[in-house]
Amino acid sequence: MQTQIHGRTLELHQGDITLEQVDAIVNAANSRLAGGGGVDGAIHRRGGPAIMEETNRRYPDGCPTGAAVATAAGELPAKYVFHAVGPVWAGGQRGEADLLAGAYRRCLELAVEHGCRSIALPALSTGAYRYPMDQAARVGLSTVIAFLQEHAQPDLVRFVLFDPGAYGAFAAALEELTGGVSPGGTV
Ligand code: ADP
Repeated sequence: MQTQIHGRTLELHQGDITLEQVDAIVNAANSRLAGGGGVDGAIHRRGGPAIMEETNRRYPDGCPTGAAVATAAGELPAKYVFHAVGPVWAGGQRGEADLLAGAYRRCLELAVEHGCRSIALPALSTGAYRYPMDQAARVGLSTVIAFLQEHAQPDLVRFVLFDPGAYGAFAAALEELTGGVSPGGTV
């Protein structure tokens, strides 16, 4: 499923983000950048030890929740990994939506700063951090749409959803946010 936003493409794919042939992929990291399961485990397994060596060397203090930091992508097809720290879900009244939006926005800013034309994003915070998928989808998509309405890059933003439930939640949210003009519609 895809839609156009000011001439840029926003896509939804179901699959494994580590296989994406894009300039940058986004990791669902923790604030210590310490390694974990889910997306993070898959990225470090497939990307090799160089990614963790670089995060340890360049970001010994980790990364605050709601932000992201960049490294090279080791053996992955991408050029960069942006390690984004989403919030742990605590019921929705602890600023989770702003922190989740901030993490996504920082990844898009990093893409611009690193000259990336394409970026793949996972559903941050929706695994171990338990953010409800439908709410996370609305926050993620509306943040990307707002960014693409204000910036000329990246040309391609692709959410890569791991399972059919996540894909369905993002597809429903995208239709809601774009007024039902997707797929192939224009915002
Ligand atoms: P968090 O700690 O931010 O919740 P997780 O990695 O536990 O991060 O989960 C985030 C989302 O990524 C979940 O929806 C999970 O199903 C999904 N996911 C897990 N592995 C992959 C992968 N290889 N590619 C894309 N998405 C993945």
